[in-house]
Amino acid sequence: MTGTDETTFAVVGGGIVGASVAYHLSERTDEPVTVYERGDPGGETTRKSTAMIGVSGPEPLHELRTYGIRLYNDLLADPTAAPRYQSAGRLRVTTDPDVAAGFAQLADAAAGRADRDAPESTPIEGIDAATLEHGTAAFVPGEEIRGRLLVPPVNAEELEGALYRPEYGHISGDRDRLGAGELARELLERAKRNGVTVESRTEVTEIRTAAGRVVGIETRPTGRADPDANPDPGVNADSDPGANSSAEPNATVVEARNVICAAGPWNPELAATAGVEVPVEHVRSPVFALDLDRPLPYTLPMIKSHESSVGIHPKRRDRILVTYTPRRDGDGEPAEKRRDPSAVPNTPRESERRTALRWAERLVPRLADATLADEWVGVGTKTPDGAPIVGRTAVEGLSLAVTGAGIQLAPAVGDVLARRLVDGETTPHNDALAPSRFADGPDR
Ligand SMILES: Cc1cc2nc3c(=O)[nH]c(=O)nc-3n(C[C@H](O)[C@H](O)[C@H](O)COP(=O)(O)OP(=O)(O)OC[C@H]3O[C@@H](n4cnc5c(N)ncnc54)[C@H](O)[C@@H]3O)c2cc1C
Repeated sequence: MTGTDETTFAVVGGGIVGASVAYHLSERTDEPVTVYERGDPGGETTRKSTAMIGVSGPEPLHELRTYGIRLYNDLLADPTAAPRYQSAGRLRVTTDPDVAAGFAQLADAAAGRADRDAPESTPIEGIDAATLEHGTAAFVPGEEIRGRLLVPPVNAEELEGALYRPEYGHISGDRDRLGAGELARELLERAKRNGVTVESRTEVTEIRTAAGRVVGIETRPTGRADPDANPDPGVNADSDPGANSSAEPNATVVEARNVICAAGPWNPELAATAGVEVPVEHVRSPVFALDLDRPLPYTLPMIKSHESSVGIHPKRRDRILVTYTPRRDGDGEPAEKRRDPSAVPNTPRESERRTALRWAERLVPRLADATLADEWVGVGTKTPDGAPIVGRTAVEGLSLAVTGAGIQLAPAVGDVLARRLVDGETTPHNDALAPSRFADGPDR
């Protein structure tokens, strides 16, 4: 042991969720708040994210997303803020006439032109009328795509139709080319100005409890490299959280009355040290970064191919990200099989690379000339009902801040938790978010 320390709120994890929790706590309390991050802030899932943002979903998700958009509007309005935002719109495209008919029916129902409860002619996996409830969704028939939208490089010939969501956009960046890592660091900077301490390269090895309540954490220093040394999260970057850990056995015990698990896909192993189960599963998400010799002279919308699950995300005019998130894994297992995030290799499989690049070229033929500059695999988190898990657990003083769509929902997750922990406030969505919907706990 090297010694002891103390704080009031120990936030474990410096990704977008931990950054938001710290920021929102610091807006409500003068008590010490410390963020412990074993790597560098924003350096894991957040950094690998395509960082798309849009209004959608039934309540409470819609209201939570709206809070996030409002916060990001304030944050990004500051001309010194590092992340950028692109409002590009999103096209979900299909080559199947039945799916196109389903898209049309959904858009009509969402716009109130058709009965929302009428049976769907073609059920569309992953979307229903409630998903489209709060945003704008228009159906564009395949033959009208190039007559209604300025999308010069898109090959619409084979497309039967598209669901167009104009409000969708994404975070992008300069220094960190994808932007989401910058966003987390921007929130942390604001938290630091409010007095928050950020302990980077410090791993929490155990949450300490006594008589059913949290008494602190045990930490040890790690020796990871700065992710800014490599602006991309791919194969050339250090993305194995344990990789450069020093052999330093020195541990510090930090006394803390509140510990918040904001460790992304590592939340289950962290919370387990206090005997708390986090009921999530993990999804592998391969991403391919294509660089164009000649930057696109216009902004492309994001494009998602319904049949192939391949997505095109124009991050910058010279960099296009291609994602591939099949519902079934290569071996036919459901993609969201429970898995250990640290054991997921950062390199996509050859079959995934082939499918992703083939579909990307089919949809945007110009991408055939692009160079595969980088690739990586992110690990997404899936909760049983799709909503975040936020609030106090059965172990007094231990809270969870868990979400699968962290870029959109982290602001609201931080706000809800800070209100609860500092002011004892419950929000109208407390029941829908509390860990107690899956296990015994005090928040319901
Ligand atoms: C390819 C991909 C695309 C995505 N696209 C979108 C999107 O379009 N929109 C959207 O909203 N979301 C998207 N997501 C999801 C979103 O990126 C994540 O929900 C979000 O980044 C998770 O943030 P987090 O802070 O919970 O986790 P992380 O960013 O992983 O942060 C957790 C941090 O905790 C640290 N940590 C872990 N254990 C310990 C420990 N014991 N001690 C100290 N530190 C620890 C880790 O080092 C890490 O930095 C996407 C994800 C992926 C992978």
